[in-house]
Order: sequence, then C-alpha cells, then structure tokens
Amino acid sequence: MCVTPTANFDLSEFTTFRIGGIARWAVEIGSLEDLKSAWQWAGARRLRTLFVGDGSNILFSDSGFDGAILMTRVPGIHVVDPPVASSQADPSAPGPPLSELSLRRDEVYVRVGGGVGLMELIRWCNQRRMAGLERMYGIPGTVAGAVVGNAGAFGQEIQDSLTQATVWNPSGVCVLSRADLAFRYRHSILKERSDCFVLDCLFRLHRCDQDLQRISEEILKTRNEKYPPGIRCPGSFFKNVEAAALPAEVLKRIPPEFLVHGKIPAGRLLQSVGACGARSGQAMIASYHGNLFVNLGGASSRDVLGLAAEYGSRVSQVFGVKLEPEVLIVETRN
Ligand SMILES: Cc1cc2nc3c(=O)[nH]c(=O)nc-3n(C[C@H](O)[C@H](O)[C@H](O)COP(=O)(O)OP(=O)(O)OC[C@H]3O[C@@H](n4cnc5c(N)ncnc54)[C@H](O)[C@@H]3O)c2cc1C
Repeated sequence: MCVTPTANFDLSEFTTFRIGGIARWAVEIGSLEDLKSAWQWAGARRLRTLFVGDGSNILFSDSGFDGAILMTRVPGIHVVDPPVASSQADPSAPGPPLSELSLRRDEVYVRVGGGVGLMELIRWCNQRRMAGLERMYGIPGTVAGAVVGNAGAFGQEIQDSLTQATVWNPSGVCVLSRADLAFRYRHSILKERSDCFVLDCLFRLHRCDQDLQRISEEILKTRNEKYPPGIRCPGSFFKNVEAAALPAEVLKRIPPEFLVHGKIPAGRLLQSVGACGARSGQAMIASYHGNLFVNLGGASSRDVLGLAAEYGSRVSQVFGVKLEPEVLIVETRN
C-alpha cells in the first residue's frame, strides 16, 4: 500500500461551497501506482469511491460520504513532442501528413498532470506566451475536473485546446482523443463514467506575442465582481439551456432577449421567477445573479436543495424548461 488514507475527512472544509458532512476516507492520488493501490484497498473493503479534483463543482450531503473520495493530485507540466499522427502509424489512414504537423511551428503541445490547478497551468502557459487557455483564468479546480466538465468561460472551453486525455479504469490505461471524450457544453463522456480516472491531459496551444497574463488579469477583475474572493459557492448551480435542444412550443415562451449566443442563461430564467435574494436557512441565491447559490456560513445541503427545487420548479411551470444541475450532487446512500 503506497497511499495513506485519511479517516473522517471533513467535506465542508474541502469543497468551495463549504458544505458536506464527513467522508469516511479520503486518499490523495499522485500517480498511477497510488490509484491502483487505493482502488485495491477500497475494493477489499467494499467501499464506495468517488474521484474528485478540488471540490469546486460538487455538493455533498450533510450526512457525508460513506466511502472513499480519491483526490486527483497528479503533478507535472511539460512541453512535449506532437502526438504521432494517424498517417504516421498507417500511411493509408486519414489525417494530416507528417510534413504538415512539423510545419506548424506556432503550435506547442503541453502535457499536464490531472491534479495541476487550472489557474496554475494558465499562469505557466501565459508566462511562456502559449495561447489557448488564458480566458479561463479564474476558474477554480484541477485540470482533471475541468476536462470532465468541459469547463469554460469568456469564449474559451477546455475542448478547444485539449487533444488527448490519459484515463485509467479497472481494465487498464487508455488514451482518449477529443472525439472519444464526446465533449458538449459542460459535459464529456467522463461525466457518465464514475470508474474512469483522468491521469493527465495533452493540450495543443499556440505561440503568440500577446501579453496573455494581462488578458487573464482583466478577466479575473470582471469575474471578481460576480465571485468576490472567498465566496462560498460551487460556481453556477444550473447549466445554461441550449436553445436548439428546446421544442418550438417551449422556445416560444422564452422572451427573445433572453437568448445569448444560442443559449438561455439559467440565471435569467431564475431571476424572472423571483429567485434573486431568496433564502433558505443559511443558503441564499445572490441578489445580483439568479444562478449563484451562496453559503452565507453554516448552510446545509438541504437548504441548498430546497432552494434549487423551489425555483427550478417555478422555471419549469412558467417556461416549460427543466433546468439541469451543473454541480455534481452527491447523494448519501445507505
Ligand atoms: C467561484 C467559482 C467560479 C466558477 N466559475 C466557473 C466557470 O466560469 N466556468 C466553469 O466551467 N466552471 C466554473 N466553476 C466550477 C468549477 O470550478 C469547475 O467545474 C472546475 O473545473 C471543477 O474542477 P475541480 O477540480 O474542482 O473538480 P471537482 O469539483 O472536484 O469535480 C468535478 C467533476 O469532475 C470529476 N472528477 C474530478 N477529478 C477527476 C478525475 N481525476 N477523474 C475523473 N473524474 C474526476 C468529479 O467526479 C466531478 O464529477 C466555478 C466554481 C467556483 C467555485
């Protein structure tokens, strides 16, 4: 056994929402060996397991987690050679010719451990003038968490620059391409697979002459207005709604001015049904944003879920839209 599990781990200290009871065990995973060892250890004790990053998009129950949370801490940021093109492995296979790959001198490939903080990665890339991630500066959490949920902000998403992820599951390690990961808005196939662990990721970035850190800092200033430092929240609670996915009769009920770049912001729908400023116990929906659920200090998961159910159902009644949580809600299972 090369990992040291921590017993009785306080989830309210771990998550950015500062909500959650006690997890029976927590294990830090810094390598494939750690992961295999922790998986075997948990399996031998028939423990329920959950892979997590930094807990910035999770709502745990007040009753805690009766199992082991496996925390992604795989380190490392390295510039690497381009991945082997399919045409190199098999000349008859479709794909860019090798000459084309090596000619793209502005491209740079960076391999990153899943446990690296997204902000740390962006700062590292900005300093080296590698563009592609800079507008996501300010999103908390790990690179693995960002890949699983296809995190994004200010016109950039993880799927725009990710080319591969190295993933472990109980049958072995495999490399998944961007196509395999089936990214959608705040979604990848990994969200549906609780037995797949992101070990590392490969990003394709572009060399540029811009002061990328300046762009990032400007964005952070704007973000701080919505998310003041120290706010106890998990980011947006619900996903925005993709207009194309709505039946025509539902779309007709939505004021056209609500539509932004093909999406209807959940905050706009929630605001119109009176969510802003609503409170249950110590949980509150921000007065300035209908999709920002905040823990004022000592809120329970029950408080939050109560607010979400109340205003989610009002949105459904008024607009016919069923809001989907962006946050992972981890129920207690007995
Ligand atoms: C103040 C604030 C602002 C935010 N702003 C944004 C924003 O602008 N845009 C945005 O997209 N998000 C935003 N978020 C949400 C959150 O930061 C992102 O979703 C982030 O990418 C989650 O990373 P994490 O490491 O904390 O993952 P966690 O919250 O720990 O986990 C998220 C999901 O990933 C899974 N997971 C984590 N690690 C692994 C792994 N190694 N293998 C497999 N599965 C894994 C978990 O099971 C879970 O399903 C914000 C959150 C906060 C608190």
